[in-house]
Amino acid sequence: MCPKCKSDESVIKRGFYRRPSDQKKVQRYRCKSCKISFSEQTFAIDYRQQKRWFNQSCFLTLCSGVSQRRTAYIFHVVPRTIARRVKKFGEICEENLAKYRKKREKVNEVQLDELESFIHTKLKPVTIPIAVEKKTRKVLAVSIGNIGAKGYLKKISLQKYGRRPSERMSALKGLVRDLQTCVAAKARIGSDKCPIYPKLIRESFPDASHYTCKGSRGAIVGLGELKKTVFDPIFTLNHTYAMFRDNLKTLSRRTWATAKRKDRLLHLLNIYAWFHNLWLDRNRAKPRLEIFDA
Ligand SMILES: [Zn+2]
Repeated sequence: MCPKCKSDESVIKRGFYRRPSDQKKVQRYRCKSCKISFSEQTFAIDYRQQKRWFNQSCFLTLCSGVSQRRTAYIFHVVPRTIARRVKKFGEICEENLAKYRKKREKVNEVQLDELESFIHTKLKPVTIPIAVEKKTRKVLAVSIGNIGAKGYLKKISLQKYGRRPSERMSALKGLVRDLQTCVAAKARIGSDKCPIYPKLIRESFPDASHYTCKGSRGAIVGLGELKKTVFDPIFTLNHTYAMFRDNLKTLSRRTWATAKRKDRLLHLLNIYAWFHNLWLDRNRAKPRLEIFDA
């Protein structure tokens, strides 16, 4: 397929080249109508990379609670290499998730809530809405937005960083928009009792039934999301959140590895979400990062 005009018909084969980094023979193509040349590598996840041998291990490591710096250390590369992979992998996983939403069968029950984390310091908190399918625990969509600091941090945050407009609504709306491609119109949607959800859900899913249950936030210890003994109707959701926190180093509680940029954190979230879905339908094999095309 031509990367410019997206047509299949006008593309012809045009020889090979031998890739210097690993001696692989790569097929070249040419589009007759756009007159551009490209190769099978143009669409590959390791396009224009020198260190392609560690892509899959890097993907697994980043999704296993290891910081980016330590990942660089393990694979004997500089941290910048990992930062570039995070961007690349993040973009691939975001597209994969979007394609997955489009192609999968409609979801009948979905649960959504927000995870809280921060960028650089607790004075700059962010909200991370995540939607999970109840039956399979698969992550359907993630999003991110700045929110204001709470409690005693509110005043300090205002003094130090000024007013940070809340992006909570736009982040939630983005999430719900993504859900519209994969959630059935008459689905059951679960969330906690936060007062902004009912209106939001009614607007996008007028026929859906929305149920709420008491949220319990604020636990600081490791498995904060799961520390409770009573029956929890949104267990699926909380279990997934606990896995995000455990497996993404920047989301762990009391961590040293803080996210530095919102867009980079979103990349990591997308990478983990995709990994999580692959891991759920693992078949003895380790999850592999590939361009999703089902
Ligand atoms: Zn073309």
